[in-house]
Amino acid sequence: MVQVHDKKFRPFISREAIQKRVAELGRQIDHDYEGLRPLFIAVLNGSFVFASDLFRCITIEAEISFIKLASYKGTTSTGNVVTAIGMEENLHQRHVILLEDIIDTGKTLSAFVPELLSRQPASLRIASFLTKPEALKYDIKADYAGFEVPNKFVVGYGLDYDGLGRNLPELYELAE
Ligand code: 5GP
Ligand code: MG
Repeated sequence: MVQVHDKKFRPFISREAIQKRVAELGRQIDHDYEGLRPLFIAVLNGSFVFASDLFRCITIEAEISFIKLASYKGTTSTGNVVTAIGMEENLHQRHVILLEDIIDTGKTLSAFVPELLSRQPASLRIASFLTKPEALKYDIKADYAGFEVPNKFVVGYGLDYDGLGRNLPELYELAE
């Protein structure tokens, strides 16, 4: 068990299992993007550990860039608008792979994907370290998913609980 702030977390997915799965995703992406020089866009802060491990499993020519997402209330009926901070790359005609730590409800990405598509990439896929199928409320799907997890709060491997826990090398789940 580890303590993060006021809560206890128990080991959930080991470092070895994570490394094995991330390497598999790397091989799959290598295969799918050969000759396309994909541009990985990692969404900070949560995905930085996943991005770092996955990117080093990629052996084809590839680029990586990092962004932060900021959401604000939109004026349209669609509600929240999500924009990228730090997006300097020209996405036009690029094969983009968005890297996320976790897709929970899918709200963040469902608001951000249209913004990305408006920049006219040649293709757009999503690679998420974790997905929580039971929590999904929006029409968003990871094309590459590390692990499906139950609807429980997890920390470690880049994911935080109120700022802490990102440095834990394996994944932990909340212990009730
Ligand atoms: P969504 O917009 O898909 O509902 O939310 C995604 C974001 O919520 C993630 O990028 C992450 O920051 C946060 N999140 C969702 N579930 C968890 C969880 O179990 N643990 C942690 N640490 N963050 C989570
Ligand atoms: Mg996040």
